[in-house]
Amino acid sequence: MTPGPLAIEGGTPVRETLLPYGRQTIDDADVSAVAETLRSGWLTTGPKVVEFEQALCEATGARHAVVVSNGTAALHAMLAACGIGPSDEVIVPLITFAATANAALYLGARPVFADVDPETLLIDPQSAEAAMTDRTKAIVAVDFAGQPADYDALRDAVGGRSVEVLADACHAFGASRNGVPVGSIAALSTFSFHPVKHVAAGEGGAVTTADPNLAEAMRTFRNHGITTDHARRAAAGTWFYEMELLGFNYRLSDIHCALGLSQLERLPANVARRQEIARRYDKAFAGVSGVAPLRTLPGNTNAYHIYVVQIDPAHFAVGRREFFAALRAENIGVNVHYIPVPWHPYYQQLGYKRGAWPGGEGAYERIITLPIWPGMSDGDADDVVRAVEKVAAAYRK
Ligand SMILES: *Cc1c(COP(=O)(O)O)cnc(C)c1O
Repeated sequence: MTPGPLAIEGGTPVRETLLPYGRQTIDDADVSAVAETLRSGWLTTGPKVVEFEQALCEATGARHAVVVSNGTAALHAMLAACGIGPSDEVIVPLITFAATANAALYLGARPVFADVDPETLLIDPQSAEAAMTDRTKAIVAVDFAGQPADYDALRDAVGGRSVEVLADACHAFGASRNGVPVGSIAALSTFSFHPVKHVAAGEGGAVTTADPNLAEAMRTFRNHGITTDHARRAAAGTWFYEMELLGFNYRLSDIHCALGLSQLERLPANVARRQEIARRYDKAFAGVSGVAPLRTLPGNTNAYHIYVVQIDPAHFAVGRREFFAALRAENIGVNVHYIPVPWHPYYQQLGYKRGAWPGGEGAYERIITLPIWPGMSDGDADDVVRAVEKVAAAYRK
């Protein structure tokens, strides 16, 4: 069957309706869990918070999990617990969601962008090493697209310096590296429960760590910096509490935690389904020259938050922009993850200059994110493949 003319040139699109790039799946168990909590009398900071934190520890192998109101709050709490403050530097990858870098700015610290490996879009340990100064206090690696960064190489790059190696694991819940689950690999790891992520709670986030003191610090931070010392509370009367630091209201409600708990039960099955779709894509695109999926590092399992391909300009008469527009016209909900963070006007105004990161800035010109989510059918995935093949054939040099 010949595909016919491109939809962008007036042909019939591969699909009649738009296939989104990511989407939550909500089932009856999720609805019941939320309804039960609504009837329980606890709307916020009740038993579901504790239960969700325990379940997150089980899912990640971490000793402590602290839930907060979203993934950005998790990054903020993580860096605050590590003592990051004004005049400190935090190294983050060039290609990530802006929140990774913004969290450093919230604390008055300076984000320093390291380049990424163009084949994986993971932070390049050599570039991170070159970016270190005596002000560097932390590296926040991003488990881009769903696979862990190379934390051993990052720790080697840090050497004897006192620099924390941390994980923005918002893409990689359910993945592992050398058998160690994400959430237990770095000293601290952040998660997001936004609807496009692997566990949807509406909004929500968490930080996992093995360190009880850091966990306690983040619990204080999420509740206005307030602690209650139980002995003094008993002595002074039940009203006693003290605000010890400037915290925030970053609490996550029991309603969100009930949904998160219910969703967490399906995490293994949902990640397995994402991997199945990814294998289908890998197999198909092996036969489409000029369309290359990101590489997964040896030792990693990939939880495929997103499925990114690079369009090699040597093979096509058009660039990524036209390729992207043509796929959209075929009703494939493609996206781009991400624009290099220092290119955003806010960062430009802070003085960051373009052109210092050949790996990531080059890759940015070639990347397209294809739909991948557990509720997609094999037919949906085959539509994506047919659309990519159709557009590649029409634009091939
Ligand atoms: C989603 C995401 C965040 C932020 O999470 P929110 O819950 O939306 O605040 C941070 N970093 C990365 C890499 C993300 O994908």
